[in-house]
Amino acid sequence: MSIKSQFADIDIPNVDLWTLYLEGKRDYPDDHILLVDGDTGRSYTFAEIKRLSIAFGQGLVHSLDWRKGDVLGFYTPNCVDTPVVNLGLHWAAGIASPANPTYTVDELAHQLKDSGAKALITQRPFLDAALQAASAAGIPRQRVLLMGDARDDAGEFKHWKEVTAEGAWLKPRKPQVDALDTAYLVYSSLTGLRKGTTGLPKGVSLTHRNLVANAMQSNKIDTKSLNWDVDAQLGVLPFFHIYGLSVVLNVAFVAGAKCVIMARWDLEKGCGLIQAHRITVAYVAPPIILALGKQPAVAKYDLSTIKWINSGAAPLGPELAEAVWNRLKVGVKQGYGLSETSPTIMLQFADEWSRFQGSVGKLLPNMVARIVDPDGKDLPNGEHGELLVKGPNVFAGYWNRPDLQADTFTSDGWFKTGDVAYVDEHGNFFITDRIKELIKYKGFQVAPAELEDKLLGNENVADVAVIGVWDDASHTEVPRAYIVPTPGVEANEDLAKRISDWLAGEVAPPKKLRGGVRFVDVVPKSPSGKILRRLLKDQAKKEAAGP
Ligand code: AMP
Repeated sequence: MSIKSQFADIDIPNVDLWTLYLEGKRDYPDDHILLVDGDTGRSYTFAEIKRLSIAFGQGLVHSLDWRKGDVLGFYTPNCVDTPVVNLGLHWAAGIASPANPTYTVDELAHQLKDSGAKALITQRPFLDAALQAASAAGIPRQRVLLMGDARDDAGEFKHWKEVTAEGAWLKPRKPQVDALDTAYLVYSSLTGLRKGTTGLPKGVSLTHRNLVANAMQSNKIDTKSLNWDVDAQLGVLPFFHIYGLSVVLNVAFVAGAKCVIMARWDLEKGCGLIQAHRITVAYVAPPIILALGKQPAVAKYDLSTIKWINSGAAPLGPELAEAVWNRLKVGVKQGYGLSETSPTIMLQFADEWSRFQGSVGKLLPNMVARIVDPDGKDLPNGEHGELLVKGPNVFAGYWNRPDLQADTFTSDGWFKTGDVAYVDEHGNFFITDRIKELIKYKGFQVAPAELEDKLLGNENVADVAVIGVWDDASHTEVPRAYIVPTPGVEANEDLAKRISDWLAGEVAPPKKLRGGVRFVDVVPKSPSGKILRRLLKDQAKKEAAGP
């Protein structure tokens, strides 16, 4: 029995994202500032974004011979230019593939190769790594572009604004963009459910229709309640993750809530920006809720303009929402989703957080869900099982990976989220566990299989299993390795440190072994060789609980 959204179906316009954002219905005027850089104050009005995005789109077509479906890789922290460059790329029927700027050269090269990126855009401080990865992926130096402020020593590299073509060049938009064309290729590492996956990130191909649908579906609950002349939001979620890329930009372009962009989270800076810009809403991940609820420095700032905060990307305990309420009298509501679902599947209304504590909210319009047992049979309300969903925001499949289709969707088209959920009698969903092998460090994905693969490359490691363990102090999961040392190697603290340090040099910071190293005689495995992570997780829980 499927669970239908409580909301009436809505119409989803058959347009691409550029058209929705820049030619759709809006209440705010052309000279309204939509994007502001929190550090420098550099900003863009709606009219400037529209003009510059067309000019960049034209420039791509004329200077870089941009064709429909060509991929531009992004390797940059949040920057006020990112949304404008994205839209220009979409104007030219291109696909954006954003990567985490803390990625190592190898990690970035994997994404560039896998996506078939034609060009790469970065900022000056990231240029060296970008060039190495571009070279490994066969992208010539002339197709490495810059964004942001650092233009002084750009040398041979063009800033995106130098790729714009304005005035006499103006021609009708060409090629035409279809709503079913891919808009974003974001990378995700779900493993465990999908056979034949190694843990290396896979391209989640999201169409314009997926994203336009999610903007309209979320509008029902969030953006509709915002007013462009009052509301402003903190743009701290990374634009290289779908939560920032889709949700934060919808709030800016659909509702007109000015977005004050932060390159990276810093508590005092964030609080200062909330105060200075009279921020009213913030979309964040749990670590920021933790800081707002517990850090003494928060008390120095006037945060009284905030109406509500939305938490997503990782589990949030009800006690943290409570802590923020007690301190700031601000409700922390939740949303839930995945890269594969553009991302939002469920959202809470702002006034629901305290009545339905711990819930991630109600199913968005135009969506249906099922909660099933391991045999795929539907479970009654209240029972825990895997969440399956269908809706216009659900992606059609991984980039160039038709082999994963059968493990990603049921034969009748339900997307398997790999998350365990239950639903109460009011239609509120609760996420209680994960079946898939994914660790979420502060909202960032860490694939155990990827770390195991790397660790097996260390001469001191004979076998290894990686799991996520809960760290109360930072309110997040952290990766921990259970290692069988190579025969003859002494397992001691020094070895654990050497292995951890070595891995830290090989991977992006969220993948560090913050949960430590434990030495074991064997890694528990099923007869077919599958690591029995559940046993290790139970062991970790027992250890944490003490003797
Ligand atoms: P990503 O594709 O990086 O957005 O990761 C999606 C995964 O993050 C989901 O499958 C969940 O496991 C987890 N997740 C997202 N939002 C929540 C939430 N509100 N509560 C618990 N887990 C969440």
